[in-house]
Amino acid sequence: MTPISAPRGTRDVYPPESAQWNRLEADCREVAQRFGYGEIRTPMFEATELFARGVGETTDIVEKEMYTFLDKGGRSMTLRPELTAGVVRALLEHKLLAQGSQRLFYIGPFFRYERPQAGRYRQANQFGVECFGAAGAEADLEVIQIAALLLARYGITDAVLNINSVGDKVCRPRYREALLAHFRPHAAALSGDSQRRLERNPLRILDSKDPLDRPFVESAPTMLDHLCPECRAHFAALRAYLDALNVAYVLNPRIVRGLDYYTRTVFEFVSSVIGSQSTVCGGGRYDGLVEELGGPPTPGVGFGLGIERFLMVVEKLAGDGAPPRRGFQAIALGEAARERLVAVAGALREASAAPTFADWESRKLTAHFKTADRNGARWAVILGDDELAKGEIVLRDLIAREDRRLPLGATAAEVAQTLVEATA
Ligand code: ATP
Ligand code: MG
Repeated sequence: MTPISAPRGTRDVYPPESAQWNRLEADCREVAQRFGYGEIRTPMFEATELFARGVGETTDIVEKEMYTFLDKGGRSMTLRPELTAGVVRALLEHKLLAQGSQRLFYIGPFFRYERPQAGRYRQANQFGVECFGAAGAEADLEVIQIAALLLARYGITDAVLNINSVGDKVCRPRYREALLAHFRPHAAALSGDSQRRLERNPLRILDSKDPLDRPFVESAPTMLDHLCPECRAHFAALRAYLDALNVAYVLNPRIVRGLDYYTRTVFEFVSSVIGSQSTVCGGGRYDGLVEELGGPPTPGVGFGLGIERFLMVVEKLAGDGAPPRRGFQAIALGEAARERLVAVAGALREASAAPTFADWESRKLTAHFKTADRNGARWAVILGDDELAKGEIVLRDLIAREDRRLPLGATAAEVAQTLVEATA
């Protein structure tokens, strides 16, 4: 029978790579809680209409990237293509906004039917934060700093923060007219996608990655020149806060973000080391979203950070340096030794937070050492008939390649204690 492979655009994560994921997810949670953000978990699928309304009918996501299906009850369901819409749905359903502002984070998969390539998958994962109920630029600063701290913790100093403002319902319509006036005379020369976007949502043309569009995008008027006084003041306040915190940024009038619900601030962290899928984190303010989904007018700001892309950057920057060795490889030579060592390994797992590896196979010592290398063990704990007879156990330093003989205590707990102390 032919083996079945994973669907295109998905990937399996398994050891040792999964340890990186665990570490990054723990760091996301740790950084988020420093800012007073609590975790929210929402379903992987929602009513299709939620995304049509909450992401926007004219976005690439809704137009062509959603996994939509009819369930057995005939309802149209969609695998979430992003997590913000579900978060807002949950906020409204549980009336959480009645308690005042809400600071939430999420970690989990999302689904988009895209052309798979490095850094672009059909199932990918995001860490994201959402701050609801805070209209001021302090909240914009807060979410940007969460992403900046996480990047700094991993030494990702090459990622550049790009910021822009896309205005609000006062000034954006005027800008839309200016864009239309700019693009219309060149309509025939634009890419097919952009020709379609022209009348429906000309801002989206700025987001185009098609080389055909580039010259017209580069000469387009910018939103920053069309901001109303309120939007201008908000953007100036954010820039002053970023300066005060020493967060470096560049003004990039071309970033508009793909989603319709953004207002005012939009931002991206872009890394130079992972090729064309270079946006590690994207976010901004979406003051109209909660209302769009049937809630009270509520400002919001947040971001989504691609876990896969973040880890690609980490890997690129780290080169192929092996992770530090940790823990013990228990190696029993012979039946009697195995019986003793099984108990010692059990006691080690109670006494030490570092891993104790063991496979209990009857093999040559050299084969066991190979396994220890594969596991990244720091020490080997070796017990054979000789050692049993002498009442000793061998502790091998797998980096220095040196052996020490330690007394084999009466109980497994005693032996474990001796080993922990000898390796502290
Ligand atoms: P892009 O312009 O790269 O398509 P986007 O604007 O569609 O990104 P967002 O919806 O803002 O992306 O998602 C936030 C982050 O999630 C992105 O910055 C990126 O790191 C990650 N991301 C988005 N789509 C994918 C994907 N298909 N595979 C892997 N990561 C993704
Ligand atoms: Mg996209």
